[in-house]
Amino acid sequence: MSENLIEVRNLKKFFPIKRGLLSKTVGHVKAVNDVSFDIKPGETLGLVGESGCGKTTAGRSILRLIEPTAGSVKFEGKEVTKMGVTEMRRLRREMQIIFQDPYSSLNPRITIGGMLAEIIKFHGLRTTQAAINDRVAELLEIVGLRAEYSRRYPHEFSGGQRQRIGIARALSVEPKFIVCDEPVSALDVSIQSQVINLLKDLQSQFGLTYLFIAHDLSVVEHISDRVAVMYLGEIVEIGDAKELYHNPKHPYTQSLLSAVPHPDPRRKSERIILTGDVPSPANLPNGCYFHPRCPKAFTDCSRVHPVLGNDGSGHHTRCLLWPESAPAGEKITVTENQTA
Ligand code: SF4
Repeated sequence: MSENLIEVRNLKKFFPIKRGLLSKTVGHVKAVNDVSFDIKPGETLGLVGESGCGKTTAGRSILRLIEPTAGSVKFEGKEVTKMGVTEMRRLRREMQIIFQDPYSSLNPRITIGGMLAEIIKFHGLRTTQAAINDRVAELLEIVGLRAEYSRRYPHEFSGGQRQRIGIARALSVEPKFIVCDEPVSALDVSIQSQVINLLKDLQSQFGLTYLFIAHDLSVVEHISDRVAVMYLGEIVEIGDAKELYHNPKHPYTQSLLSAVPHPDPRRKSERIILTGDVPSPANLPNGCYFHPRCPKAFTDCSRVHPVLGNDGSGHHTRCLLWPESAPAGEKITVTENQTA
């Protein structure tokens, strides 16, 4: 059996653009465009990129909350994209999601205890009412809330507390894998670190595996074992978190990292400001998708689409400045003033 808990291969999610009276398909928004990665048991993969880069769509396609257009997703070696309704329902217990805005996914008319009890009952995880109540109290305590809060309604909690409730809900079915979809983006900075620390503690307590989605590299730095950077539906760089933070190879990752404040002022790097707008995923540029904004672009960049090349150490980059990213048969000439 594979050593990976999750294996994603050539995942695509295209949304059709329809026009006219007959709703004819005139194009596609290529939200996720040939994405592949693995996640090992107990590991956290950070998935980072600007809003609209396809990271949330990728996370939801893996869970089949939206149906992928093509590609393969395996959970413990089993193909998820081909599962029927019954098998998928069983799998939902193993794969959960924590949303950016937990409030919108909580029923305002049901107490928190009632909501958790319903899930526990539905999945047959406890049979007697007393056992269900005990489990609800335990879940609230696990996420740092008092057991008596079970009688409260969602509107009675702060943003940070609601996110803890979202985490309790995900944990209530005892999953192995959780997609954390920008779980701290809507929270104050002081609360963000509390929630990240809680997720880290829960991971070591329960052996959880995370796909942690964020738009900011600083958020995923302390929780990720590996990091993948997405741009316009593609992974442009993926590697060990420490290696990627210390030796970013892709100009897009370099620009994202230049915006992250460093605690050591001596390591201050110059901020790289990207000019121009992100092109539309419905009308992708030729060559490297990043070339219209790339400060290091050279002649071949508007002609050749780079592959996600491995430098031999597991650090993958999609940039023609690196020999491993040149597609087979393409001769790339890097001009003298361009350096990686
Ligand atoms: Fe920039 Fe060219 Fe590398 Fe694309 S291939 S990231 S445009 S240098």
